[in-house]
Amino acid sequence: MKQLVKIVLFLVVVLSIQLVSPDWGFYGHRKINRLAVFTLDKDLFPFYKYHIEYLTAHAVDPDKRRYATKHEAVRHYIDVDHWGDKPFETVPREYAHAFFKEASFYSINSNLDTTSLSFGHYVNENFIKSFEADSLKTLFYKYVDRARYEDEIIIDCNSLGDFIVTPEDCDKILIVDNFSGYGILPYFLPRYYSKLVSAFEKKDSKRILQLSADIGHYIGDAHVPLHTTENYNGQLTDQVGIHAFWESRLPELFADEQYDFFVGRAEYIPDVSKWIWKVIEDSHDLLDEVLDFEKGLSESYPSDQQFCFEERLERTVRTQCEAYSEAYHTKLDGMVERRMQDAIKAIGSIWLSAWIDAGQPDVKKILDIDWTDTDEEVQKELEALFNGGKIKGRDHDN
Ligand SMILES: [Zn+2]
Repeated sequence: MKQLVKIVLFLVVVLSIQLVSPDWGFYGHRKINRLAVFTLDKDLFPFYKYHIEYLTAHAVDPDKRRYATKHEAVRHYIDVDHWGDKPFETVPREYAHAFFKEASFYSINSNLDTTSLSFGHYVNENFIKSFEADSLKTLFYKYVDRARYEDEIIIDCNSLGDFIVTPEDCDKILIVDNFSGYGILPYFLPRYYSKLVSAFEKKDSKRILQLSADIGHYIGDAHVPLHTTENYNGQLTDQVGIHAFWESRLPELFADEQYDFFVGRAEYIPDVSKWIWKVIEDSHDLLDEVLDFEKGLSESYPSDQQFCFEERLERTVRTQCEAYSEAYHTKLDGMVERRMQDAIKAIGSIWLSAWIDAGQPDVKKILDIDWTDTDEEVQKELEALFNGGKIKGRDHDN
């Protein structure tokens, strides 16, 4: 009987275990968006300060949207190491280019037979080079990009012009996207940025806020080393759980007490695409330390003192013990704090740059926003999906 009680108790504990939330944790994203407001000066500060609660609360909307659409998850990362040992030298910075470089092409005839269209033979060998002339890029955005949101990318045989020599019986071309699944963060961000610029141009305050909150999230993610690798949760090095350890557990334990969040003023960013690639590269440079330090520690630290059970919101949570977390945090020597500081300044800088690129519209007069239309429904839908759903695409914690 005693044994049975023990087993039942054990099961209760195990079943009620909840993993720590994803991506800087909700705690981190909210804090970063909130503090970014204080990097702004007199032109923008009043507008952002007025809406600081919105920017804080909605800092995690993009994570919630991962439950609604499979196209969301890939915006939060790029597994840049999937693309070789020196990926920053070889991965194209233009999305259309990267997409085509990795894609597979098939011709489908009216009997639905498919023929693989190989590079050099069917696919013009100047295919990739032609990006310099921009003509293929134009075709990409005209025919392919829109089709990416369908289940399959199917275009007309002649859509890509001379770049693809199609067999006589070609009815349609099927393109398989081998690129996006490894993440598109640095490609997606500049496009999202231009939406923010146009929201400023239109002085559409609601849109400015929605996009500002979202873009803050993506920039936050870009500052996390584990958002730049295929080994995003330590699953390839027997360190499962390190994702939430680094970006949720550590800030939750140490940020409020120990971190200095005076990060200085936001600065204008002249080339957002170039800049976000640099952010990714800086994050990726820290990856070895993130993994190696934890690996070394886990091998030298008593194994029964690494994980603890904690009570949180009436639930038992299995998480890294405080002392173990502290040891890792000490070894990282301020890394998490610096990445948070950089993220805060970066977000303020992106907001400021979008406003400048939009011609510095006066936003002091558009403070009041009517939130009473459809937004509440959309938000409810998001919450419902988030609470009861399963992430479509990658879940960093599992
Ligand atoms: Zn995210």
